[in-house]
Amino acid sequence: MNHLAQRNPGEKNFLESVQEVVESVWDLINVERRYSEFNILERITEPERMILFRVPWVDDDGTVHVNRGFRIEFSSVLGPYKGGLRFHPSVNLDVLKFLGFEQTFKNSLTTLSMGGGKGGSDFDPKGRSDQEVMRFCHSFMSELYRHIGARTDVPAGDIGVGAREIGYLFGQYKKLTNRFDGTLTGKSLNWGGSPMRAEATGYGTVYFVQELLATREETLEGKKVVISGSGNVAQYAAEKAMQLGGSVVALSDSRGTVHIPSGMNEEQLEYVKHLKNVKRESISEFAEEFGFSWHESAKPWGVKCDVALPCATENELDEEDAKTLLGNGCYVIAEGANKPCTPAALDIVHQKKLLFGPGKAANAGGVAVSGLEMSQNGMHTQWTREKVDNRLHNIMRSIHEKCVQYGDTRDGVDYIRGANVGGFIKVADSMIEQGVV
Ligand code: GLU
Repeated sequence: MNHLAQRNPGEKNFLESVQEVVESVWDLINVERRYSEFNILERITEPERMILFRVPWVDDDGTVHVNRGFRIEFSSVLGPYKGGLRFHPSVNLDVLKFLGFEQTFKNSLTTLSMGGGKGGSDFDPKGRSDQEVMRFCHSFMSELYRHIGARTDVPAGDIGVGAREIGYLFGQYKKLTNRFDGTLTGKSLNWGGSPMRAEATGYGTVYFVQELLATREETLEGKKVVISGSGNVAQYAAEKAMQLGGSVVALSDSRGTVHIPSGMNEEQLEYVKHLKNVKRESISEFAEEFGFSWHESAKPWGVKCDVALPCATENELDEEDAKTLLGNGCYVIAEGANKPCTPAALDIVHQKKLLFGPGKAANAGGVAVSGLEMSQNGMHTQWTREKVDNRLHNIMRSIHEKCVQYGDTRDGVDYIRGANVGGFIKVADSMIEQGVV
């Protein structure tokens, strides 16, 4: 870790996510000597390739802007680099390296053939017109296209990159390469997308929660669920939780939290989807429309619940938040976002033996359905919603099983360790099999 910290100065998020994996696999590495003989830890923490580029674009007033574009091609040992693109002002090398590192193990857990990657830009789509977003996406792809391909690197969405952005990115990719292939996932159903891709991350997270609860012979019926965020993951986590009898009592966005004491209904969820996906306004408007209380700048963790689903962004649930949740009786946390719980929050989760779905496992449904989209594209076909949903459900069950298999301790299941070890073994063994490349 000292060596890594010296080589990657200031990269707090990346170092934290490596530290967590190293702690989980340390015992295994000391027993299975082949991992140290082949220097797996040092190799696995160095991305295979990092691409940084300039993205110039012109806004509606004619002003010229410059952003930075990135693609971190972390590991191709299990398949083409695979992972989303994030457009957000907080994007930098540290954030994308942590996300690419996590993605490698997450993708391994899905059992599908996908390596790990992540990319994006510090461009902020908030408040930008469709034309500005289109010009930015075209400029971004004018460089990225030469590095990606259906068998090389297959990007998708993440924060700030949804159906609209994937459309503009794909249009430019196709124009520049003169190829119509499956090089991006999360595509529209009209041109090669998979049914259920939009729903996949949120639904998958809730399927994982079902498995967690089943270990105590419980279900979501009647459970109070607090969800952070109100974007793609949060919306579909809410939808599935509601379908399974849960009561969604809070949602949030970067501006604050809305408290829904009696639980959200379908009509209200449709309102949220329209507000966030079409109007692109704050969730405070939802609170106002239905007369719910609005807590400016507040996180949702103070709302009493049984199940907490952090579905917004990294480090959004800290030690204090974990204590608050626990004090209010919450006993299940599943990460719909990537690394939303800080290491100090995770210590509490561990000490208090909460049922916990770590992001690598609990939010793997999104990339899993991306993998299924790649299969459909390869076969020039489109499956039914039922077929994809079934596959997703089975994948989430098998990920849960893997966590139990590798995380079983005398004290119960350590899901963090289970996910890390389960993801690591396949990546590390494959690296040994492929030699020092
Ligand atoms: N951005 C998502 C994730 O964090 C999905 C990636 C993908 O579909 O490739 O896993």
